[in-house]
Order: sequence, then structure tokens, then C-alpha cells
Amino acid sequence: MCLNLRRFCVCGRNSTYLSCRDNLLPGEILLNLFCPECRPDSTEEDTMLQDCGWVLEYDVERAQAYFDLKSMQVRATPGFIFDAGYLSWQGLAPGDQEINTRLHQRLAPLIKQDLALYLQSLRAEWVAHVAQLKAAGWRKAQAT
Ligand SMILES: [Zn+2]
Repeated sequence: MCLNLRRFCVCGRNSTYLSCRDNLLPGEILLNLFCPECRPDSTEEDTMLQDCGWVLEYDVERAQAYFDLKSMQVRATPGFIFDAGYLSWQGLAPGDQEINTRLHQRLAPLIKQDLALYLQSLRAEWVAHVAQLKAAGWRKAQAT
């Protein structure tokens, strides 16, 4: 995993951390990242994937070349690249990383008071967060 690969969207108002499984695809394969404020009116299904208003545009041909190089019998599509985690949100949705960090910080005082309660609260709040993402329709959350 390439941790802390942060990308800004085209308008620069939003950013997210990306995961890239096995470091197989370089970050440039994600040609453009659009947030809900700068997304194009229509998305090109061959190269773009839409997730709750965010749009990821991939260099599908170059991605295919990387897969071929590894003798992977797969077809590079935006859906495959995203779902298999080769260039995808880190976590389940943009901002997950920050939400997770804040949650840990907020509950940290509990560690000394009651570790079991800390762990229980952490789990319960995260489960609620994931349920929220799932209800909102985030693609990676659907698989949980
Ligand atoms: Zn934007």
C-alpha cells in the first residue's frame, strides 16, 4: 500500500487519500479527480467512475499495460481498477482517513479510564459511520 498518496481534485477545493494495492499502478494512472463541485456534467463510462458525486478518470490503456506486464488476465476498466483497490479511496470514501483520526482523538481520553469501553465505543462509532456511508450509496461501503 502506498500510504499518504494525497490527491487534490481539479478545482483544488477538495482532496482525498488514495490506496494503491501492491503499488502496481502509479498515481498518474488517475488522470483526473473531480469532487462534487468540479465534476463534469457527463461521465465517460470507458474511462471514468462515479461515486457519490466524485468522479475518477483513469488512463485505462496504461493501466492495461501494467496489468499485462504482470501477466494478469484482467481487463482494465474503471470499475475493476477501483473495486480491486489498485487506485481507489483509502478507506471507504474521501475523508475517511481524517474521520478515523478524529474519532480516535475524541475517544482517546477513555483509554486510561476504561479500555474496554474505549474499544467498544470505537467499534460502535465506526460501524455507525460505515452504515451511513452505505446508506448514502458509496461504492466501497456497499461491499462491507
Ligand atoms: Zn473539485
